[in-house]
Amino acid sequence: MGYISKMMLPPTPSAADLLRTYKLPALRRFAQNFLLDPRATSKFVACTGNIENKFVIEVGPGPGGITRQLFEHGAAQVAAIEKDIRLFPALQTLSNAVDSRLRLYLGDILDFDIESVIPDDITGQHGSWESDESSSTSPIHLVGNLPFNIAIPLLIRWLKQVSTRSGPFSFGYRIPITICMQEAVAGRIVSDALMGQRGRLSIIFQNWFDCHVKHVFSGRAFVPAVNVNVAVIQLIPLKRPLVEVNYDLLDKVTRAAFRLRNKKIGNTLASLFHEETRDEDTRELLHRAHLKSDTMCLTLTVEEFGHLAQIYGDIISRPRPIHEQLDQKMNTKELTFELGETYIRPESIK
Ligand code: SAM
Repeated sequence: MGYISKMMLPPTPSAADLLRTYKLPALRRFAQNFLLDPRATSKFVACTGNIENKFVIEVGPGPGGITRQLFEHGAAQVAAIEKDIRLFPALQTLSNAVDSRLRLYLGDILDFDIESVIPDDITGQHGSWESDESSSTSPIHLVGNLPFNIAIPLLIRWLKQVSTRSGPFSFGYRIPITICMQEAVAGRIVSDALMGQRGRLSIIFQNWFDCHVKHVFSGRAFVPAVNVNVAVIQLIPLKRPLVEVNYDLLDKVTRAAFRLRNKKIGNTLASLFHEETRDEDTRELLHRAHLKSDTMCLTLTVEEFGHLAQIYGDIISRPRPIHEQLDQKMNTKELTFELGETYIRPESIK
C-alpha cells in the first residue's frame, strides 16, 4: 500500500444525506442505530489511535459515517463488511470519492473470514507479535459500530483466534480492535477484581487483551436513539496472555465460578466435576491452586482463574479408574454420561 497523507474528501454527500437520497430507513432487523453527526464519528475514529496509512476492516459500515472519517484520519484502505444490501449504492458513492480505496463486502461478519480481505503485501510482511511496538505498528485495525447483539459473539470469535494466533491474527500483528457496545457490557469486560461488574467476560478478555473504555456516547448520539449509554471499547492483544491456558478450559471454569456470583468458590467449582468424584476433585483443584473453599469468586485475579483452569484441565485429562464410576451407570439405561470434558460410551469399554 502506498503512503496516504490525511485527507479531506472531495465534496461527497454526508451519511445523513445518503440515507435521505436513497430513502433508507433504519431497520430494526439489522439493529441499525447510525452515528451520523461528524463530531461523533470523528470521536469514534479518534478512539482507534493512529490509523494513518493503515488497512482498516470495518464491521457494519451502515451509510458510511464512520467509514468517511476513517479516510479523513488517513486510513490507506478500508474493507467494509455489511449485511444489509440496501446500503451498497450509498457506500458505493463514498467508494467512488476515495478512488476505490473502500472495498465493500456483502456478508454476515459472524461467518466471514476477514483474513481473506487483507492484501497480500500486508500478510506477506509477517510482523513480530512479541516486539514492543507491534500493536501500535500493526498495519491492520478492526473497527465497528455494530449491533449490540453481535458484539460479544464476534469478540469471542476474535478472542479464540488471538488465543491460537489464527485467522487475521496469524500474520504476527497484535491487531487493535475498537468497537461500540452497551456501556454496561463494556464495564464487565474491563472490571477489576472486587468490582461489582466483575464476571466471566472480565477474566476471559483480560487474560488475552489490554482492555480500555475510550469513550462513552449518550444513546441520543445515535439515529434512531438507543436507550442506554454506548461505550467505545478498545482491546489490544497482549504480547503473551497472563496465563497460557486453553480458551475452552478458562471459559468453562469462569462460567462455573460466576454462575452464582456471590457464592463461595468451593461450591461453584464443584459443578465442574462428575458427582461421583466431585468432592475429591474439588478439594484437589482448590488445594493445588492454593485457594480456600470459602473464597468469593469476585476476589480472584485473572491469574488465579488461569491457574484454576490449567489444573482443572490436568485433572479431567488424567486417566481414571473408570470402572469405579461406571459400575453404577452400566446397570441403568443411560448410554452416555459426562466425565469432566470426556464423554465415555459404555460400548467402548470392555
Ligand atoms: N457503523 C454504522 C454507523 O455507525 O452509522 C452503522 C451502525 S448500525 C448500529 C450496525 C450496522 O451493522 C448496520 O449497518 C447493519 O446493517 C450492520 N449489520 C448488522 N448485522 C450485521 C452482521 N451480522 N454482519 C455485518 N453487518 C451487520
